Amino acid sequence: MLPKNIKQAQSRSRKLSARIVGRQTIIVDSQTEAPGRHAVTIRYRSDRQTIEASCTCSWSSHQGVACAHVMAALETLAERKGRTLSYWLTEDEARRQRHRRFFLTRVGERERIEGVWITSRPMKRAA
Ligand SMILES: [Zn+2]
Repeated sequence: MLPKNIKQAQSRSRKLSARIVGRQTIIVDSQTEAPGRHAVTIRYRSDRQTIEASCTCSWSSHQGVACAHVMAALETLAERKGRTLSYWLTEDEARRQRHRRFFLTRVGERERIEGVWITSRPMKRAA
């Protein structure tokens, strides 16, 4: 499953606070969904372009990709490198951005069957 409206999902994710607790683990606090706190696991495949993520929320446990918690976790990791992310449902849209591209999928998804595209760009400095 992919989010139907990925831009809306991303704007929801910006309201969540994420805390990096380990090399691959980020805890995301949710104010709307019980139990209020989710653990996100992020792993890069050896191609360095594919990101595998899992989350403890119900969307993720029902084969959902790119829940708001995973997005919040990835944005927090990107922020540490001074970057910000955008999400796209097709590679074409992602390619048009002319920024570094990643593919986000589930842990254990064998091929690139289901997932979303991410582009990463330098964060604008606050004016
Ligand atoms: Zn989640």
